[in-house]
Amino acid sequence: MNILEGRIKQTHKAENKGKYILYWMQGAFRCNYNHSLEFSIYLSNLYNLPLIVLVILNLDYPEANYRSFKFFLEGLNDISNTLKNRKISLHLRKGRFESVLSEYKTNIHTLVTDKSYLPNLKNIKIDIFKKLNLNSYEVDTNLVVPVEIASSKMEYGGYTIRPKIKRLYENYISDFSMNDYKNAYVEQIIDFDINDTDSLLKSVEYVSPINIKGGEKNAENTLEYFIQTGFKRYALQRNDPCSNVESNLSPFLHFGHISPIKVLKTLPHDDFENYEAFLEQIVIRRELAHNFTFYSDTTNNLSKYLPKWAKDTLFDHKQDEKKYLYKLKDFEQANTHDIYWNAAQKELLKTGKIHNYMRMYWGKKIIEWSNDYKEAYNIMAYLNNKYAIDGRDPNSYAGIMWCFGMHDRPFIERDIFGKIRYMSENGLKRKFDIEKYYKMWSIK
Ligand SMILES: Cc1cc2nc3c(=O)[nH]c(=O)nc-3n(C[C@H](O)[C@H](O)[C@H](O)COP(=O)(O)OP(=O)(O)OC[C@H]3O[C@@H](n4cnc5c(N)ncnc54)[C@H](O)[C@@H]3O)c2cc1C
Repeated sequence: MNILEGRIKQTHKAENKGKYILYWMQGAFRCNYNHSLEFSIYLSNLYNLPLIVLVILNLDYPEANYRSFKFFLEGLNDISNTLKNRKISLHLRKGRFESVLSEYKTNIHTLVTDKSYLPNLKNIKIDIFKKLNLNSYEVDTNLVVPVEIASSKMEYGGYTIRPKIKRLYENYISDFSMNDYKNAYVEQIIDFDINDTDSLLKSVEYVSPINIKGGEKNAENTLEYFIQTGFKRYALQRNDPCSNVESNLSPFLHFGHISPIKVLKTLPHDDFENYEAFLEQIVIRRELAHNFTFYSDTTNNLSKYLPKWAKDTLFDHKQDEKKYLYKLKDFEQANTHDIYWNAAQKELLKTGKIHNYMRMYWGKKIIEWSNDYKEAYNIMAYLNNKYAIDGRDPNSYAGIMWCFGMHDRPFIERDIFGKIRYMSENGLKRKFDIEKYYKMWSIK
């Protein structure tokens, strides 16, 4: 199967008589396994027009801060080097998306961009293409099975999307081939120095950077490290936060520094049990999350998208009395009565990520200790998007909604949670060495 099959969609049709093909790299900040880049090169060769790859640094981007921008900027180094080697021009521009694109408008023959899966971004792009009347395509390059091919509607859960994806996914992990770029090199325009983060990011909110650096090479090293260490124990120990078994790929996947297809092709397929366990997360759960946000019209509507049983049970329990109540500041400063919850929050503050098992506990307790469900949702989204380096992702919104019952099933009814799955301190004690986890993150 052709690597581009099912991935390309025309988003706006116009007769642009421009001088070049413009690839607005917006969600897949990599040069390998990047279908948008390959499609752009294909168009450039077809029309005999040069290609420009455009990256726009929008310092007003919602909820972005020093931590996330730094990781993003680090990723641009690899792109710059690879494109130089492939003799393709890279423009690094600063400003708002629409105003930067309008500078290129008259010279664009065709605009290509990465598909977006979050409703806000999806709508912003459609508006820009229409307003500027750009002949434009989007390419679904960050998923194994393109979101609209996997399903044409919002799915109920893993059990409904799993068979659809399993039926198709082998077709979409074929070997990736790259096109030779055959046209002229357009002069570069560089508005900012990728490595001068401090002066560049002076105006954005400061959140301390994390230890891991962004970029395609670091993503590949992280994958290699995972194969050598955690992968072999993934099926057995992925729910143990002390086992160092997770891949830590989520930040790289979020910025598109690595393709999930590349990940799957690199993993040892003969280790069937671990491969299947990992596939369940990186393909089924991740693509279920993308299905959810893609078919939502907002990321902030708890009452709209929860299944009926979850909405009903939360409604029945909304007046339940709460033993502990905390404000955003208490949560943010890891200042609750629960030392294990505080440890998870500290892991987030320090590393920009929480182990999945503790992340579920973290979310459940915010529900238990907040004034109401809406406030709990807002606190979770705020903290996750501010501190998590993989935040502001379809997985973020699906993960938060999961805490409220989405993509899950009803359990025995209890206070505050109703029929929604509950998690307790005793559960942590039963499952793994929670004292060890606490010690790992108890330092300020
Ligand atoms: C409240 C809450 C908030 C969350 N916020 C985020 C977020 O902001 N960004 C994010 O990427 N994930 C989020 N998750 C899902 C999950 O916790 C992370 O994807 C996972 O911990 C990332 O670490 P990893 O890459 O080492 O995971 P691994 O176990 O190595 O998994 C590999 C990949 O599979 C995917 N994956 C794993 N678990 C899940 C899951 N439960 N749902 C969807 N995809 C999954 C991710 O892309 C991950 O990178 C959240 C979960 C909860 C409960």
